[in-house]
Amino acid sequence: MEANDNQKSQFEASPRVVHKRNNSQGMPMWEYKRSNSVILGYMKLAQPKIEQQRWNTKRKIKSLLKRIIPREYHPQFVDWYVKCRAFFLSLLYTGNKFECPFCGGHFRKFLPGGLDLPVLKEKNIVGGGYRVNATCCRCQSSDRDRLIYLYLKNKTGLFYKNLKVLHVAPERHLQRVLMTCPNIDYLSLDLNSPLAMVKMDITEIKYEDNSFDVLICNHVLEHIPDDRKAKSELYRVLKPAGWAILQVPISLLLDRTYEDSTVTTPEGREKVFGQSDHVRIYGKDYKDRLEKIGFSVEVYNFAKAFGEPTIHKYGLSKEEDIYICSKPKQKTFKMATSYYTA
Ligand SMILES: [Zn+2]
Repeated sequence: MEANDNQKSQFEASPRVVHKRNNSQGMPMWEYKRSNSVILGYMKLAQPKIEQQRWNTKRKIKSLLKRIIPREYHPQFVDWYVKCRAFFLSLLYTGNKFECPFCGGHFRKFLPGGLDLPVLKEKNIVGGGYRVNATCCRCQSSDRDRLIYLYLKNKTGLFYKNLKVLHVAPERHLQRVLMTCPNIDYLSLDLNSPLAMVKMDITEIKYEDNSFDVLICNHVLEHIPDDRKAKSELYRVLKPAGWAILQVPISLLLDRTYEDSTVTTPEGREKVFGQSDHVRIYGKDYKDRLEKIGFSVEVYNFAKAFGEPTIHKYGLSKEEDIYICSKPKQKTFKMATSYYTA
C-alpha cells in the first residue's frame, strides 16, 4: 500500500496524470491526460514509474529542441518530425497483413486508437472506444476514414460524376482525395477545425436550400446539443435526390438514444457518454431519428457486402454500419426509391 502511495505521489507530479479510478472489472487504473478534458488512456497501477520516466525523457528532448531550433522553423520542424515518424513506423510495421487505401502502404499491423473508457465497453458502442488496428502507421488515417472512403470509391459514382459536395468536420485524408478530384465541386466547413475551408455552425448553415448533391458528416452529430436542428439544416441544403453519409457512434445495447442535458462538465460527459465533448449516446433508434427529419435511410454494412477478409485487410470494424440518407425528389416524407441517382 505504501509503495502504491509512493507511486501515486511520483505519478501525480506529471501533468498528464490525474487520478486513480477503477475500470469495468474493478481493477485500479491511473488515467493520463493531454488536458483536463482529453483522456488519452489508462495504465495499470504497476506501470506509472516507467511511464513517468518516458514522459520526463520526452519533455527534456522537446525542451532541448525548442531551445536549439529557431522559433520561425518550429512549424517546418514539426512537419519534418511527422514525416520522419511516419517513415520509421511504416518501416517498423511493414508487412502484408493490412493495407491502407489512402497511402497505399502495406503493414503487419496498424496502430491502436480510441479511448478505453468503461462506458464505451459497457454500452458496446460501435464506432468509438479502443480499437487494436485503428490508425495507419504511415498516414494516420483512422478506420472510420477508411470505411467511408472505401464505400464512396466502390459503391457510389462520386469520383466520376460532376457533383457538389459538402464535407462537415473534414477528415484530412478524405478531404485531400475529394479536393483533388477534378469532377467534384468541394466545400468543407466546421466551427473549429483548421482543416475546414469555411467556419460555420451546422445548426445554422448559411447556404441556400438544395445547394449540394452529396453531404459527408462523419462523427459530428454526437457533439451537438440540438442535433435535430443540425440534421434539419443538412436536409435543407441537400438537393432533392441527393444523398448524405451521416455517421455517429452507436450503442448496440440501447434501443433508444440516451441523452441527459444535466450532464454538462467534461468529466461528467466522459463518464456518461464516453467522451468529454459528446452529449449523447445514439441507440438503435438513430435511423428513426433521421427518418423523422425526412431522410430516406439505408443502413449499409460493408462487412456483409465485401466479406471479413476485406474488413480485416483494411483494418475496419465489421459491426460499423454506414447510414446513407437520401432526400426524396419531391418534397415529401415518403421513402425515396434510390439515392444512387446523384
Ligand atoms: Zn495510410
